[in-house]
Amino acid sequence: MSHGFTGRIGGLLTAARRHLATLRCVAFDDLLAANRDFASDFAYGGFDGVARAGVAIVTCMDSRIDPLGMIGLKPGDAKIFRNPGGRVTEAALEALVLGVHLLNVQRVLVVPHTRCAVASNSEEVIRDRISESAGVDASWHRFHVVDDQRRALEMDVRKVLSHPLVPDSVEVGGFLYDVDTGLLDRLV
Ligand SMILES: [Zn+2]
Repeated sequence: MSHGFTGRIGGLLTAARRHLATLRCVAFDDLLAANRDFASDFAYGGFDGVARAGVAIVTCMDSRIDPLGMIGLKPGDAKIFRNPGGRVTEAALEALVLGVHLLNVQRVLVVPHTRCAVASNSEEVIRDRISESAGVDASWHRFHVVDDQRRALEMDVRKVLSHPLVPDSVEVGGFLYDVDTGLLDRLV
């Protein structure tokens, strides 16, 4: 009898696994179909990985931002590093040093934006919302909110300029991107 029970459980598990595998496939079907379209007239094959326009951009993960389009560039032209808030973190600096020395980067744009979630909410509010969404406590997690966007931008630009591995020949600017007009405003 216990053998039959084990068999039934095994059968259910197999069915569940198959169901999950199907879901996993379906979850990306639309995107993979779009990718096949994209690849059907792919124009960027054989490129090397340098920034052809000599540009690197550090900006926010916000879906309203088109980092290449907003400065008239296209794939192949720029190195792009994104994170919440568009902050110059250790990882961003690592990317910029690689960009400057190995990938033709000569100009760096640091670009936070208007109506950014991490610059318009307190750490508590973001943690509360995430705890609520996750259904578990998120109070242990840091989200690096920005109290003063302009001051943070000044600090971030200074971090790049003062990095010992970023030569003086590299131009670094701090800009605010307006998500409602598409315009960049140079602040630093
Ligand atoms: Zn943002």
